[in-house]
Amino acid sequence: MVTGMKTDIAIIGGGIMGSAAAYFLARSGQVGSVTVIERDSTYTHATTPQGAGGVRQQFSVEENVHMSCYSLKFYKAFADRLGGTPDLPDINFREQGYLFLVTADGEDTLRKNHALQTSLGVKADLIDYAEVQRRFPSIQRENIVLGCYTPDDGWIDPNGAMWGFRRAAEHLGVTYVKGRVTGASTGAREVKSATLDTGQIILADFFINTAGPWVNEVAAMTDANVPVVPMCRVQHFWKCAHQIEPLPLIKDESGMFFRPEGDGYAGGRPSFDVAPGFVEDIYSGFFANYFEDTVWPMMAALVPKFEHLKLQRSWAGHYAQNTLDGNMIIGKYSPGHDNIITACGFSGHGIMHAPAVGRALSELALTGRYQTLDLSRMEISRVHANAPLAEVGIK
Ligand SMILES: Cc1cc2nc3c(=O)[nH]c(=O)nc-3n(C[C@H](O)[C@H](O)[C@H](O)COP(=O)(O)OP(=O)(O)OC[C@H]3O[C@@H](n4cnc5c(N)ncnc54)[C@H](O)[C@@H]3O)c2cc1C
Repeated sequence: MVTGMKTDIAIIGGGIMGSAAAYFLARSGQVGSVTVIERDSTYTHATTPQGAGGVRQQFSVEENVHMSCYSLKFYKAFADRLGGTPDLPDINFREQGYLFLVTADGEDTLRKNHALQTSLGVKADLIDYAEVQRRFPSIQRENIVLGCYTPDDGWIDPNGAMWGFRRAAEHLGVTYVKGRVTGASTGAREVKSATLDTGQIILADFFINTAGPWVNEVAAMTDANVPVVPMCRVQHFWKCAHQIEPLPLIKDESGMFFRPEGDGYAGGRPSFDVAPGFVEDIYSGFFANYFEDTVWPMMAALVPKFEHLKLQRSWAGHYAQNTLDGNMIIGKYSPGHDNIITACGFSGHGIMHAPAVGRALSELALTGRYQTLDLSRMEISRVHANAPLAEVGIK
């Protein structure tokens, strides 16, 4: 018989998703003990602290809009929602809006997406190029025909949000164990325990795999697999020599995005040519001249004042990229094991959806069903059916 620490629910991976799930489980008052297993207390390689922190309601898949609406409200009231948590970090919500910009090729899709969003209660303005320039004179690219501006959107400090969920979960009694899960033992239809690199064994009635871009390392321990790969995404921070009016987070059809950050700007442009996998060194190989050759010309073509900038630093993070459709996979995923679920494959949306997904994971773990927002279209069955549920337009 295996002996070790016993917990009701074990969560593998304590980034923003695992910590949000832990918080909602603890807050429910319906579970005895929750343990989060996190291998890196400094979160040096975790995805969450590397993210841009953008929170937006501009999506084409209805569930994504609903999740964003809930999460946006949650983040705007973060301190109140997690009230009572000692030393709660400030997530520094900046309600400065999101602006999607398209050329003639993207006009119809932007209009359709705008119609969906407004039908779901999102405040969103369609604005032509003249209006874009009137509101944001620094933007000057004549092939832009239309923008969609959502003034209630903005961005947060993702590190603050992740630690906020973790602090709140710990305050409500959740235990964080430092260690890397390296193996699992299974029974006829269930996962029984997780083994850590420290030698510790954690037995649980229920498991949640929120290991981010490492989701398949954990999935392999029960002979499972999800279509999610790590994709390196490099971000940059630069200062501009000119004064620029306050800008929203701006994104275009190429995937290029940027937003104000302190006394400069943070942004980038996901490359679709880089091979999947973890990239440790962005100063050689594919990303060696990426800012200068690819990102900077695109930024300066949109905002000519960016011709005169100083790049301060660049850093890499890794999307957990769902190769089927770029959207998350939630729920059971390990054939023959009914007591393990995941939420993974967020690509670039995990920070903004963490409150909604944490709540959904908690509902699944406690009741086996969604109690608030039905996310069943986002389960792994669509992968088996080869039926992508992809975002249309700007992703
Ligand atoms: C450059 C960039 C920009 C982004 N911008 C945005 C944005 O603007 N808005 C947005 O919403 N999203 C954005 N994202 C996406 C977002 O950051 C992710 O979707 C989100 O952070 C994923 O959270 P997570 O908890 O699933 O993963 P992570 O934060 O990676 O957490 C997973 C945790 O699991 C732990 N772990 C892994 N394996 C094990 C194991 N075997 N045992 C124990 N622990 C383990 C890891 O140490 C890690 O801490 C961006 C991502 C990148 C890379």
